[in-house]
Amino acid sequence: MFISDIQHFSVGDGDGIRTTVFFQGCALRCPWCHNPETLPRTPVTLHFAATGKTETRGREVEPQNLLQELLEDADFFKQSGGGVTLSGGEVLLQAQGAAELANLLHQNGVHVLIDTAGSLPFSAFEAVDPYVDGYLFDYKSGSAEKYRDVIGGSLTLVTENLSRLLAAGKYVRVRIPQIPGFNTDAASIDEICRNLAAIGVTAVDLLPFHRLGSAKYAAMGLDYAYKDAEPLSKAQIDAITAQYEKHFTVTVEK
Ligand code: SF4
Repeated sequence: MFISDIQHFSVGDGDGIRTTVFFQGCALRCPWCHNPETLPRTPVTLHFAATGKTETRGREVEPQNLLQELLEDADFFKQSGGGVTLSGGEVLLQAQGAAELANLLHQNGVHVLIDTAGSLPFSAFEAVDPYVDGYLFDYKSGSAEKYRDVIGGSLTLVTENLSRLLAAGKYVRVRIPQIPGFNTDAASIDEICRNLAAIGVTAVDLLPFHRLGSAKYAAMGLDYAYKDAEPLSKAQIDAITAQYEKHFTVTVEK
């Protein structure tokens, strides 16, 4: 497996205290992405001008070796009802490695979630499904054109995959990033609500936009398309939440 980083004591990547493994590589290119260092399938060097620090992200690991590191947090998982979240990048581009790691974690009693953008063949879900407890599933837009032209993904594939997981009774949290100028206007929200309601979604998590990835873009020598985008105000978040609440139970993440 090729991974970018491991984050201990994550909150916001599922229930309880979790350890998040960021897999390296993503086929999509969301212009607001706050993990640009996870996108290539090669190691990435970050030079932070403010601190003079240089970090390299991206390394190959064997699932068995990674298991030992992850199990060091096992007591926290047990006490908090947490576990391990496999994220990225797009973890399901490495579905076989993820399945092997999830299987090892399950054998050791660890709860496993997959955090995915969902724009890939359903066979990737089938590979990991026997070993995972659920999914954090991003739904970024209700527009096929936006998925294709802005992100580089397939709305049809994303919606079909989500629908199949729900129909099979899987634990799925549908997460909608709130991206100014992309999916936060009333018409875009309507489109998303219609699509999700049609496949039986009853609850959504809203993830407000932030610019925490800005420093990483600068450290990689890249321009960040959202560097000047303002985070949503409380009034905007409240209005967006109210629109989603007409259809779903809504949780607004911090
Ligand atoms: S799917 Fe996630 S990791 Fe991939 S580009 Fe979009 S935000 Fe970044």
